[in-house]
Amino acid sequence: MSEQDWANETLLIHAGRLRSQFDETSEAIWMTSGYVYKTAEEAESAFKNDGSRFVYSRYRNPTVDMFERRMALYEGAERAFATSSGMAAVYAALAAGLKAGDRIVAPHALFGSCLYIINDILGRFGVQATLVDGTDLAQWREALSRPANIVFLESPANPMLDIVDIREVAKLAHAAGALVVVDNVFATPVLQKPLQLGADVVVYSATKHIDGQGRCLGGVILCSNAYGEKVAPFLRHTGPSLSPFNAWVLLKGLETLELRVARHVENAAKLAAALEHHPKIERLSYPGLKSHPQHALAAAQMKGGFGNLIAFNIKGGKDGAFAALNRLQLIAISNNLGDAKSLITHPATTTHQRLTDAERARVGITDGTVRLSVGLENADDLLKDLTNALG
Ligand SMILES: *Cc1c(COP(=O)(O)O)cnc(C)c1O
Repeated sequence: MSEQDWANETLLIHAGRLRSQFDETSEAIWMTSGYVYKTAEEAESAFKNDGSRFVYSRYRNPTVDMFERRMALYEGAERAFATSSGMAAVYAALAAGLKAGDRIVAPHALFGSCLYIINDILGRFGVQATLVDGTDLAQWREALSRPANIVFLESPANPMLDIVDIREVAKLAHAAGALVVVDNVFATPVLQKPLQLGADVVVYSATKHIDGQGRCLGGVILCSNAYGEKVAPFLRHTGPSLSPFNAWVLLKGLETLELRVARHVENAAKLAAALEHHPKIERLSYPGLKSHPQHALAAAQMKGGFGNLIAFNIKGGKDGAFAALNRLQLIAISNNLGDAKSLITHPATTTHQRLTDAERARVGITDGTVRLSVGLENADDLLKDLTNALG
């Protein structure tokens, strides 16, 4: 039985393994920047040939290779490139495929740093950006009625959990000549497979559910061999390489990913249902609830659950939200997500502080909005903490 025949649960534990002469059970951490050659001739040929030999860890490293190979097989992608963080993955995935004069189309509702890359950084290099309401296919159709090069999107999107119709947007994008890059962090690789929905490139912040225990930063780009030909030299020469130690942490994370995500989803569904009609809560957004305006679409393109993020407005604006956050005893105030520990943040004053009032309003963030990343604790304990904090 080869790796390709393994089911997902098996892939996550064994795929990509490179076992050394010491026959270790757990993957080895190859903490080395360089590699030695027995002769000068060997060095010469290593640099001449196809890259199969390790020559320098900015290019390739055995522990990082294991993580990349495991991710590629799990996602169903031809290539995987590990990066030092999720943002390094997003930037490389976009910059490798764009040049001055190109056009990128993306929703307004994006992770703050993704928006900065698209508007500010790529803009300085002459890439034109068109931003749309990601939930409105008419706006996508209009924006993609002219040639474009890349469509970038998140679904569910940060922080209000809007759903983008990946299949329909991919059709429109391809007709406009654009590749579709999906930031699949909120959905996790367990619950949504963008490549099967028509996307061309998938990026993750592995910092989130893939590590899943709040230990290290990392990222990964998953794509075809053809796009990989553009990404590989970009990464090689700009250098956002993943540390072998972090690759090892992420490999350990992958071993339990499906188990953890199942529990995350179960807990989040329980909390969303229990809090939806709480008298101190205004508009609760969770794609798994019938009240979510795009529940049917989320159910059609996600399998096995709707993720572990919930957004809601606490009555009383900023004061009401801050008072509730400050009364929490179990759930920690933190802008990270996808951790075993439940974390809550106030987007208007943290992750989305840079946005203008109008920009925040457009993506649905109010002064009372909080975003909860539901962890792996006992759901009743979490609910008690929240109801107590809400008063
Ligand atoms: C966290 C996050 C990123 C950035 O990842 P880092 O590992 O923090 O660099 C990008 N996109 C989304 C949706 C995220 O949640």
